[in-house]
Amino acid sequence: MTAHQLILKQRAELLAVLCGGGSAEPLDCVLDLLLACEVLVWEDYLSIRVVEKPLLSNVRQLLDVVYDKGEDACSLLLAAMNQVLPEEQKAGLCFGKECAVLGKNRPDTATLTLLADRPVLVRKLRDNIDGALNALLTTGCFTIKDCDAVQLPVYTPSQQVRRLLDQVRFKGETAAKTLLQYLEQTETTRPNPEDKENHLSANCLLYQKKLRSSVAAQSHSLSTYGGTGRFSLDDIYTDGLLEVMDGSGETLTLGLEDVVGPLGTLNEDADTVLVSGEAGSGKSTLLQRLHLLWAREALLTNTFLLFPFSCRKLNSEHRELSLKELLFLHCCWPDRGQDEVFQFILDHPNLALFTFDGLDEFKQGFTDEERHCCPTKQVPIPILLFNLLQGTLMKGVMKVATSRPQAVGSSLKHYLRKEVLLKGFSPGGIDCYVKKHHSDPAMARRVIESLQANTVLLSLCHIPVFCWIVTKCHQELLGGQDVIPQTITDVYLLVLQHFFQRKSPQPQGVLGKAWLEEHLDTVLKLGQLALEGLEASCYVFSGYELQRNGLTEQDVSLGFLIYCNDLSVTDCKRYEFLHITLQCFFAALYVVLNRNSDRSAVSRLFQAQYRQLSGLSQRCLGHCIDSSVEEVESHVTETPNLQITAQFVSGLLSQRHHNLLLECCPIAVRERKVKQVVKSLSKGMQRHFKSIPRPVEGEKKSMHAMPSFVWLIKCIYEMQDNSIARDTMAKLDVEHLKLTYCNIGPVECTALAYVLKYLRNPVGLQLDNNSVGDVGAEQLLPCLHICHSLYLRNNNISDEGIRKLLENGMKCESFQKIALFNNNLTDACTQHFALLLKSKQNFLSLRLGNNNITSQGAEQLAEGLSYNQSLQFLGLWGNKIGDRGAEALAAALKNSTTLIWLSLVDNGVGSAGACALAKLISQSKTLEQLWLNKNCISREGVECLIEALKINSSVKEVWLRGNNLSPEEEEELSKQESRLTF
Ligand code: ADP
Repeated sequence: MTAHQLILKQRAELLAVLCGGGSAEPLDCVLDLLLACEVLVWEDYLSIRVVEKPLLSNVRQLLDVVYDKGEDACSLLLAAMNQVLPEEQKAGLCFGKECAVLGKNRPDTATLTLLADRPVLVRKLRDNIDGALNALLTTGCFTIKDCDAVQLPVYTPSQQVRRLLDQVRFKGETAAKTLLQYLEQTETTRPNPEDKENHLSANCLLYQKKLRSSVAAQSHSLSTYGGTGRFSLDDIYTDGLLEVMDGSGETLTLGLEDVVGPLGTLNEDADTVLVSGEAGSGKSTLLQRLHLLWAREALLTNTFLLFPFSCRKLNSEHRELSLKELLFLHCCWPDRGQDEVFQFILDHPNLALFTFDGLDEFKQGFTDEERHCCPTKQVPIPILLFNLLQGTLMKGVMKVATSRPQAVGSSLKHYLRKEVLLKGFSPGGIDCYVKKHHSDPAMARRVIESLQANTVLLSLCHIPVFCWIVTKCHQELLGGQDVIPQTITDVYLLVLQHFFQRKSPQPQGVLGKAWLEEHLDTVLKLGQLALEGLEASCYVFSGYELQRNGLTEQDVSLGFLIYCNDLSVTDCKRYEFLHITLQCFFAALYVVLNRNSDRSAVSRLFQAQYRQLSGLSQRCLGHCIDSSVEEVESHVTETPNLQITAQFVSGLLSQRHHNLLLECCPIAVRERKVKQVVKSLSKGMQRHFKSIPRPVEGEKKSMHAMPSFVWLIKCIYEMQDNSIARDTMAKLDVEHLKLTYCNIGPVECTALAYVLKYLRNPVGLQLDNNSVGDVGAEQLLPCLHICHSLYLRNNNISDEGIRKLLENGMKCESFQKIALFNNNLTDACTQHFALLLKSKQNFLSLRLGNNNITSQGAEQLAEGLSYNQSLQFLGLWGNKIGDRGAEALAAALKNSTTLIWLSLVDNGVGSAGACALAKLISQSKTLEQLWLNKNCISREGVECLIEALKINSSVKEVWLRGNNLSPEEEEELSKQESRLTF
């Protein structure tokens, strides 16, 4: 049979194999070969490879064009396909008699050389695009715009090279010569393979270069800005808040460079650093920044090779792999000396760094049951990954993994060098981000002002992904919406609207009131894909899966789905949602809007996770509860996502969005779903309330909230229905509510206040060790009236946050205690405390330890104290009030008839201060304990105290450890007064 006939007869099969898997790579490779051997001329190529047209029509056009060119052209096409297609796809196809696809004569211009060598150049330049672009840029052949157009992240590396070659051809002979010269230079600078001495390191160096350039290409821009080409990571990256807890429980703030550094190390034997943070807090972006800076040799300069992995992508690796295959197939393939490069890694583990993004998205939960330490043996991916994290395999290689906190159980914690918490943007970070996003300062100012006017929105912006949406949708925001965004559902509806608007054919892209209904079909298709994905822990989708859900190229072009950025060798296109939270949002839209879903879909969504959470919740409270609790760690990946989905479902079913949903969902169905949500939330809360232990006699009835409590509160908040909040809280009867170490940030504070304000009786609200901050403190105001005590130790609160809190606290009758140990308070806040003390004559306890209060602040406090007749506890441990401050406080407290406990530990108080405090002792009838450890009091000061104690019977203890006294003096003085403790 002639080649002509073969093409005609096998047309359907040839079409299928060239389009199989949805990747254009096979077609492009065939085109490269046909251009090289001059079967196709440039005009043919342009008529065939039309990016805007579907792949199938490109392939059809190729077959038609070649068919028309006659028998020789057809046999070369078959030969090219034979060369390009993998064996398994060739089965059953006939390619005719063998012939080589070779270029003809050596071309005489640089432009034609590029065409003749195209197949080789694509391979050679794939790992060196940056270098080539640099050469073209510095010689003026290319502009930055040209470079950006080549490097759009939607293209695979091979496609980027082809775009580069096409652009060079378009620019003309000089550009082509420059590129050829560059290639010649890189060839000559390659090491001489004969040189044995140099051989190993030269191969490693080459590999490092290749790895650096592919890591740089992959991390150059942010996926959320993908395709727009507007921002590089450099333009938009804003530092997030990074914290680590050291061995003594102190929180340290870290810089990016400290993530891998020694600061905060808890376990020297472990090599895995965990960066944990909520969805959208910026974990992937932080890793991306680390990668980029390494690739540019600007950070991690001691790391010779960095291997970045994405756990969501590892999910789709079903083969058993050896470590070597994992590194080379999933990150970067060494062109030369694979064994040497691998041996180098084995011999120098301290020079390598592996990063694993999104451990929480890895299908299987961490276990350390199966040990594996052989780098060349093939094993399933989970075993490989878990043994790397544990250090059983490749001990000494530093690993950085990211995860949401919920997915990290104690068995993994055991193998962690340290856990770094990523807490999103600081208030300054939000401003900085908005300014970076809007190059027009006036616009940036308007956005910042609008955020400041809506503090709920501002609190959301602490989470970078929300900040991105709010900034992106500034026009909709500033333009005035019917519904002022208050909840995350509002914010995600905004982004949905924004994306549809972008593609709207209407003038100025204005969307009608029924915009959701108009796009219902697309929303449902994306929603189904999203939900099915979440249920199966699947976050990456093939072209086939999209097709199966009926998603068209037009749907994809809306921008909710993006191409995966991938370093692995496959060139097949895969897609993911812009962000995991967007996948959850679409899943929620599907649950709410799908008319065919079974009746219990909503309840199942809430109950499924509640079942899981009963085991999971204990894990999240690692700090607070008995770590011996046996834990089940598998199948937890979906939980945080289903939680976010449920939160969106609650929000979508809120009365606020009734009108939007009106035409999309029959009222009766909506009502039924609302009822199901309310019932599920109420049941969930009941479960919590039932778990409250009976109070021990003499102690307060206290509830230690599980993290799912916060989630339920957030769902109630999304519904924005006061009666639901009121009804739920009516059943909670506790005196103390403990929410320590629960990742409470400003967003959670908004929800907490919204719900807790309906408590029947005042509670003590303990929020120690969270990230409340000033914005969060302000969000708490609506529930301040129901708090008799507020514990906010270690929460990054500064004077401004306190000002707002106290201004309101002053008016709340029940508010009697506040603890602010370890925040960022200075003398600027003490005037507000003074005012509070003056005006509130039932205030009992003020604890301000470990802040930055000096003598000036103490003097201001004293001013308020002198008018107060209720305060019982005053704690100023770890400030700098000195003698002057102690004197002022002592004078003000002399007439107090209520003070029981005073701590001035570690405040630089000397004997003068002690003598002033002695006067307080001699007059006080109520003071029981005075804490003066770690000061600089000498004998003279202690003698004053002893004199005063002689006429005081209420004081039980005066603590004086760590002052300016010799052991002999301490012994002698304690004999004089037994109530002194040295
Ligand atoms: P996570 O991995 O914690 O879910 P991502 O890193 O994916 O969060 O962040 C989501 C989006 O938020 C990013 O795509 C980006 O738009 C924005 N973002 C996150 N961190 C930063 C940052 N440090 N600087 C600028 N934008 C950021």
